[in-house]
Amino acid sequence: MKEIIKKKIAVLGSTGSVGTQTLDVIKNHSDAFQPVILAANNNIDLLIRQALEFQPHTVIVANKKKYPQLQQALQHTNISTLAGTEDLIASIESTEIDVVVNAITGYAGLKPTIAAVKSRKKLAIANKESLVVAGEIIMTLADAHNTEILPVDSEHSAIFQCLRGNKHTEVDKIILTASGGPFRKFTAPQLATVTKHDALKHPNWSMGAKITVDSATMMNKGLEMIEAKSLFRSAAKNVQILIHPQSIVHSLVQFRDASILAQLSAPDMRLPVLYALAYPDRIQTNINRLDLLQCGSLTFEKPDLNLFPCLELAFCAAKDGGNMPCALNAANETAVEAFLNDKIKFTEISKITERVMAGTTFIQSPSLTDLDATDRQARILATQYV
Ligand code: NDP
Repeated sequence: MKEIIKKKIAVLGSTGSVGTQTLDVIKNHSDAFQPVILAANNNIDLLIRQALEFQPHTVIVANKKKYPQLQQALQHTNISTLAGTEDLIASIESTEIDVVVNAITGYAGLKPTIAAVKSRKKLAIANKESLVVAGEIIMTLADAHNTEILPVDSEHSAIFQCLRGNKHTEVDKIILTASGGPFRKFTAPQLATVTKHDALKHPNWSMGAKITVDSATMMNKGLEMIEAKSLFRSAAKNVQILIHPQSIVHSLVQFRDASILAQLSAPDMRLPVLYALAYPDRIQTNINRLDLLQCGSLTFEKPDLNLFPCLELAFCAAKDGGNMPCALNAANETAVEAFLNDKIKFTEISKITERVMAGTTFIQSPSLTDLDATDRQARILATQYV
């Protein structure tokens, strides 16, 4: 009988929203995929449960204080346990892996992204912050090492699918859709009083706290525009953002002959995850089918840049380039954390980010060391403004 070769998957950020959905996909397609590495940061109880269920070769906890608990729980198994980002990077480099899923949140995902790209591991990237901060460096390294990068963000997966089989030179523009978040219909005075509980109630998607707040400020769409610019090598001016409250059309590409291609499905992150894991194939799945007769009207509107200044800030950072997207990202991460800890109001997230960008020394072609310094400095500034 012919042996079925399963793809070996590393799931970084396995305890988070994308990470747990990735493991769900792997479980539902256990004939096709097997996890070989699981990595997370703080949620040690869930990481241990995942390790016992999925039996990967290696489990890594980034927060070293949590290591004794991990080691004790898994000492009677064949699973190797490691701790810290250096061990995570060494494991990515030395393990036989078919696809690395980077579902770590924030700037912490950058070094694992670089490690996967440099060691020629196919990278399914959910961690958009890597591409926002260092898109140019990552894409240049991917070219040099011949590493494939597959987007997991549903919008970028949609664009990737629309571009498949088409020439990049024939693209007129990329149209990124946005749900508009929970405050789409709010007025400025209403926005000034929203709480974190309001911001954490996304109308269509269940996601981690940071990206949910980013969706409410629309910074998420700004980050995605910069991500698209890097991934698809497009100028920011050729990326249009449209509000599409139903989250059914995940994004579109318009070509020079005036044709528009789009990708549609019910909103479910397991679909772009499955697409990235199975690529270049499409495999049979029990994910809910979209019933076009039931989904009602599909509508599109222009975003309100006055109400959502984070979007404008992201366009400024993209236009300036260099280390500005890095400063934008670090300021936003710091401000969102402060908002989630009840230290600042919702509307202060954009104000702090704008002040940090204004206080950042511009570097046209930053190295990774420059970006580390920009990230550190922007966080210091943002913390002062909190
Ligand atoms: P979550 O906050 O739910 O999960 C983040 C994960 O990253 C957790 O497993 C966390 O571990 C882990 N983590 C954090 N820091 C480290 C570190 N230093 N080393 C290793 N692991 C770490 O986030 P989401 O799943 O929502 O988002 C993840 C990424 O995917 C983000 O970049 C987001 O923008 C992007 N994305 C998310 C979507 C979604 O639907 N959620 C959709 C599209 C993109 P622990 O829990 O143990 O602390």
